[in-house]
Amino acid sequence: MRIFIAALGTETNTFSPLPTGRKTFEETLWVRRDASLSSDNYFVLPLVEWRRLAEAAGDEVIESLSAFAQPAGRTVQAVWEELRDTLLGDLRAAGPLDLVLLNLHGAMASEQCDDCEGELIEMVRQVVGPEVVVGVEFDLHCHISERLMRHADLLVLYKEYPHTDVAERGAELFDLARRAVRGEIKPVMALRDLRMLDVWRTSDAPVRALVDWMQAAEQRDKVLSVSFGHGFPWADVPDVGAKTVVVTDGDADLAEAVAQELGDCIWALRETYAANLLDVAETMAAIAGGNGCTVVADISDNAGCGAASDSTFLLEPLLATKAERALFGLLWDPAAVRVCEEAGEGATLRLRIGGKVSAMSGRPVDVEARVLKLIHDAKVTYGDGKMPMGDAVLLDAGGVHIVINTIRTQTFNPDAFTQFGIALSDYRTVVLKSAQHFHAGFAPVADRIIYAVAEGTSSPDFRTLPLPHAGRPLWPQVADPWA
Ligand SMILES: [Zn+2]
Repeated sequence: MRIFIAALGTETNTFSPLPTGRKTFEETLWVRRDASLSSDNYFVLPLVEWRRLAEAAGDEVIESLSAFAQPAGRTVQAVWEELRDTLLGDLRAAGPLDLVLLNLHGAMASEQCDDCEGELIEMVRQVVGPEVVVGVEFDLHCHISERLMRHADLLVLYKEYPHTDVAERGAELFDLARRAVRGEIKPVMALRDLRMLDVWRTSDAPVRALVDWMQAAEQRDKVLSVSFGHGFPWADVPDVGAKTVVVTDGDADLAEAVAQELGDCIWALRETYAANLLDVAETMAAIAGGNGCTVVADISDNAGCGAASDSTFLLEPLLATKAERALFGLLWDPAAVRVCEEAGEGATLRLRIGGKVSAMSGRPVDVEARVLKLIHDAKVTYGDGKMPMGDAVLLDAGGVHIVINTIRTQTFNPDAFTQFGIALSDYRTVVLKSAQHFHAGFAPVADRIIYAVAEGTSSPDFRTLPLPHAGRPLWPQVADPWA
């Protein structure tokens, strides 16, 4: 069997003040060929899995591009077209193929295209023709278009948020795709639009039950794969919103029925499931009264959602109250890092940090800081892979420890901090910029977790998010989107 593999994507927040250009791809992931042989990047994990499984089965792997960018605003059109056309060029040059497997994100929009994945898969289909099996893996924070469904044979989404099952879902897709090539199954897919905007954390019991439901449904006769596309609400595009996807073996009615059944479960959950969110004042009060180590997630300024990761809405009060044994990060501030690098470890200096990218970043903060430690080309663990942090500095600003860095990324894992030689158990309060991925690594060391809502590019108030291009009513913007 000859298998073509590649990875391409980003998660586009159309409200982000940051364009996604060449530099963001280059510093996150842009490997021309065979990244699965050389890269530990998180976005390459499915390709590593596909290569391992393919080689074990005696298949031939043709590996094209791996390119992902940290979430931000729309991708610059020329950059999207270069990436897309590089992949398609490799596909044309690959010769006869049996199978195409692509790790995409599902929520990528360029300056002129609201549905990059749909466009890409349609073009892939034009190159390979109707007989070659095309399988796609998506992040669950995706928009799923009819266009994509028409041209792909198989679509499998992550089930977990935090995304701890990327390689596992990749292996499932590989198995289904190979069986489809051998004619053992005939995949048929159904898509159901739920007309909902929300964030569902699979670490919360009611959402965990949904994952269990999906896995149980996959045991039913002829049901091959069941996915819940949570959607990515911060995107004013026609396909925004939660959807369900079901793949069956040749039974379209069954696929529709299961997609509807799962959709009904998710809809029924909406009144009972609400994440516990605190505003800035409530967060500060909770920190002051807490025992043990409190982890606060600054979800409104999450780089993983396209935000700048330099807002100071929580840092300012943390410094003003002289919070004891507090740790804050990752604050994206390349200019301040540069100043610290010039001064060197051990230096004490006046420093202006954060609050730079846009009004949604708040005010910059002036501190007298000591440079405790500098790390060049730091990385943070994300699942079984790594994400670049760039150069990073641990500062002591009047007792509050702050990590600033040069490559914008969310605080996925405690090693964003502990690589500086510090222990989280030394802190009473850890404020980090992440919406949920932090949970996998921080929950075991936290005595409690607070989700804090400030102003920001990734603020979770979906009732007021302007989405004129959604083209249909969406809950919770309306009580009943089907009325
Ligand atoms: Zn995601």
